[in-house]
Amino acid sequence: MSDPVLAVEDLRRSFTQGSATIDVLRGVDLAVRPGEIVALLGPSGSGKSTLLQAVGLLEGGFQGRISIAGERVEALDNAGRTRVRRDSLGFVYQFHHLLPDFSARENVLLAGLVAGHSEKAASARADQLLTDLGLGSRLTHRPSQLSGGEQQRVAVARALANRPVLVLADEPTGNLDEATAAKVLAEFLALVRGQGSAALVATHNVALARAMDRVVTLHEGRLAAA
Ligand code: ADP
Ligand code: MG
Repeated sequence: MSDPVLAVEDLRRSFTQGSATIDVLRGVDLAVRPGEIVALLGPSGSGKSTLLQAVGLLEGGFQGRISIAGERVEALDNAGRTRVRRDSLGFVYQFHHLLPDFSARENVLLAGLVAGHSEKAASARADQLLTDLGLGSRLTHRPSQLSGGEQQRVAVARALANRPVLVLADEPTGNLDEATAAKVLAEFLALVRGQGSAALVATHNVALARAMDRVVTLHEGRLAAA
């Protein structure tokens, strides 16, 4: 079997809340293979976002080992974390966090430029991704001129602009109605599969999790196969 794109070993994270300490992650182990799409299930408060923030090198304060694309990353400095995020990872959140003053195309294009693509390549890729997501006629619209589902599709395109080996998605369709959520998720997964990326997708929606290759569930700070 090929080496995992993500390997997490004995990941631990505690938070102090007032005078109490809560152990949210209590020794999480997880391996995600190239191209594999893994659903991360667990009720609200079980630590899904905490796990994704650690893996995405967005938050410190955890213990354990994390490898991304074969590189140990948990002890990297800020510049190293930024490099790994830029070169290897894509992010989709529940709320799209698009830049309000930029068009759909510009939001995606900027992500490609940040990743070091030429303007020509980044622009062509932005148009292709948005067209694949059915937004070919919305390229110059700003986020406020798009529906919730369309905004989230732009966020998906932005996450894939740098051709990440691993996409981290935190409740990517959690802000959409049920029918739109199912549609946007299916399109998102098809694009991820089409470019051979792996994905770790947090959701508390069991029905949506079934669309993925494998399901793992956070329970009492550890992961169990569902
Ligand atoms: P989920 O994404 O599964 O809903 P979270 O990872 O957001 O769960 O939160 C897990 C637990 O960690 C919750 O009890 C939450 O209150 C706590 N928590 C998360 N972030 C912080 C923080 N920055 N400070 C204190 N507690 C936190
Ligand atoms: Mg969460």
